[in-house]
Amino acid sequence: MSDRITRNDFGRMIAGGAALVRAQHAMLSQLDCAAGDGDHGATMLRVAERLETCFAAGSPEDLKACLSEAGWSVLGVDGGASSSLLGTFFSGMAESPARGPWISSSDLAAIFEAGLAAVRKQTKAQPGDKTLMDALVPAIAALRAAADGGKGVTDALGDAASAAHAGAEATRNLTARYGRAKFLGEKTLGHQDPGATSMSLLFEGFHNGLEESKGESGNARC
Ligand code: ADP
Ligand code: MG
Repeated sequence: MSDRITRNDFGRMIAGGAALVRAQHAMLSQLDCAAGDGDHGATMLRVAERLETCFAAGSPEDLKACLSEAGWSVLGVDGGASSSLLGTFFSGMAESPARGPWISSSDLAAIFEAGLAAVRKQTKAQPGDKTLMDALVPAIAALRAAADGGKGVTDALGDAASAAHAGAEATRNLTARYGRAKFLGEKTLGHQDPGATSMSLLFEGFHNGLEESKGESGNARC
């Protein structure tokens, strides 16, 4: 079975990610106390608020315009490395030719891949370097694999969320090589990377948002 989503479902997906980050922001700051300067939760709370505003009712129907606005808005959060990388991620998504009105799992993978390509222009961090890339890269690879394997959007996003979760958990055993945590070196061993954790929460929330959206609007089955 394959399902596709609408522009409004996409908004619900983003809102799901924002809601989970909002709910967990205190934990994110705690992680950043161990591996950075303790501000990650506050930054992610502001990122979540901006995403909620940009995808709220009345936001541009055109997905590209909406993603572009979201990217600029998140870039405007004065929150250091993570908000800058996330703003770039959303701005990059706007560059994808896939824009609806119906979005398949393959379209969604293309949208996220465009976001990742933009992030890669901003950081050279790779999975294994203990950054948000440890969650983001496997999440998008899992999404693409699921789409290529014929899974629908919700199931494919479920695979992405699981991969992001595993990637974030694995950062516990890594030494940071980028960002503020780099200066703590091996002291970061045993602590999960804050940015990878928030990225994992975003994907889990994206999946939750679509599951809820399914109940409300019933995604297209074809
Ligand atoms: P800051 O480090 O500026 O205080 P945050 O605390 O909000 O910003 O975010 C820290 C997270 O940002 C880290 O846990 C890491 O995942 C991510 N990060 C920091 N620097 C980089 C980088 N150069 N490349 C990729 N991710 C990075
Ligand atoms: Mg910080």
